[in-house]
Amino acid sequence: MQQFDMFINGQAVQSDSTFDVINPATAKVFAQCQLGNASHVEQAVSAAKAAFPAWSQTTDEQRKQLLHEVAGAIEANMPELMQLVTMETGKPMGGLNGVGSGMEVGGSIAWTQFTAELQLPVDVIQDNEVARIEVNRKPLGVVASITPWNWPLMIAIWHVIPALRAGNTVVMKPASFTPVSTLRFVQLASEILPPGVINIITGPGSVGGLITGHPDVSKVAFTGSTPTGKRIMESASGNLTRCTLELGGNDAGIVLPDVNVKEMAPKLFAACFHNNGQTCAALKRLYVHESQYEEMGQELAELAKNVVVGDGLEEGTELGPVQNEAQLNIVQDLADSARADGGRFLSGGKRIDREGYFFEPTIVADLTDGHRLVDEEPFGPIVPMIKYSDIDEVIERANRNECGLGGSIWSSDLDKAAALAQRLECGSAWVNDHGALQPDAPFGGIKQSGMGVEFGLYGLEEFTSIQTLKVVK
Ligand code: NAD
Repeated sequence: MQQFDMFINGQAVQSDSTFDVINPATAKVFAQCQLGNASHVEQAVSAAKAAFPAWSQTTDEQRKQLLHEVAGAIEANMPELMQLVTMETGKPMGGLNGVGSGMEVGGSIAWTQFTAELQLPVDVIQDNEVARIEVNRKPLGVVASITPWNWPLMIAIWHVIPALRAGNTVVMKPASFTPVSTLRFVQLASEILPPGVINIITGPGSVGGLITGHPDVSKVAFTGSTPTGKRIMESASGNLTRCTLELGGNDAGIVLPDVNVKEMAPKLFAACFHNNGQTCAALKRLYVHESQYEEMGQELAELAKNVVVGDGLEEGTELGPVQNEAQLNIVQDLADSARADGGRFLSGGKRIDREGYFFEPTIVADLTDGHRLVDEEPFGPIVPMIKYSDIDEVIERANRNECGLGGSIWSSDLDKAAALAQRLECGSAWVNDHGALQPDAPFGGIKQSGMGVEFGLYGLEEFTSIQTLKVVK
């Protein structure tokens, strides 16, 4: 059994007790991690605080160089990291449309390299014989990173690399379902970065709360569910700690009646089911025009019945299990409520009879807004296909949901689709795609999906404060 340590001040740290990490493809324990406590939080925050003055004063070139070395270390250990990601999350190494642990580790490298190269600008407001006024960006101090279980390594990278690039130090707390790839990453990074610049503690949400409420933490980067995001904001409010909150989504995708159904169906299927629907910005409410409703349903059901579901370590697997048993129960409960609400199951609907947390890829027709499966984020392999007849009305229905992460319009008329996409209440809108992220384009939610953005210069700036400097001549 592999054991993973925490890292504080560049040193491996053990606790007096451990917790188990389960492989969702087998429902068996495959690793043990340290159960961190309040004293580890104190040690980690004080190490990060002590490391901040020197780290924040390193030059841009020094930090760039070190972060490129971190990217190199991830790359050099890619096969091992992919294996760890697959064992802890269940996601395939390859996966449907290439969405799997290869993408997660490859994306982690790409995001690190791109973010390392970003440069914070100095904005000169005035420069004349009277005065020079410039706006500078300064690092904040200790950044807390709290991550979920669906993309554990990639999301940790999304938090930590811009925080470090801007000159902050970090204390991380990964989800206790999926801590191992993040712990291995921090071990690699600790061999490159000065002691105390990157620290990680493992344990339950209560340990996360001790970090986010700590008076020496200057910023919280959180990705996870909306209720936890609210608790974190509450704990951060005592110290007026800044927060970036990337929370739950229940993204609508609206298919206009001008699409070629056979061509679009595989793209829509992948947008809904990649990573088994366990992606914040997966397509979770699929609105199809009445003229194509039955045909689209048939095409999607065929895809759902033929997609290869299995252990992510086996070659050819397209979809893995649900990541944990509690989430599997949520998916089953939503399927049961869909059945009770009169939903027509075009595919799936139940647990797969094998070890592990597998659920059939499930498409449910004939439900509408107001039913639980439509209104709530399932975060698993189950999608409602909803009929509409009028475009203005469907946009209004799409926007009625409390979440506002992503949304999409699918059409062969790109201008019309782009105009409609701009009417969706969400942080990211796509035409003929959904959930596609890249390191240079900002991403973030509105409404109950959170606040702040990640990626690119917009994301980097969130790890800084503004200092306006006026020099009177
Ligand atoms: P979660 O909110 O249950 O847990 C996320 C993390 O918060 C874990 O590390 C957990 O231990 C920690 N935590 C729990 N309580 C805490 C507290 N009081 N204080 C501090 N930390 C605490 O989320 P999850 O179930 O791991 O992830 C699934 C959710 O995340 C879904 O809703 C999904 O949509 C969302 N998500 C959003 C994005 C995005 O970018 N918007 C990305 C991925 C996932």
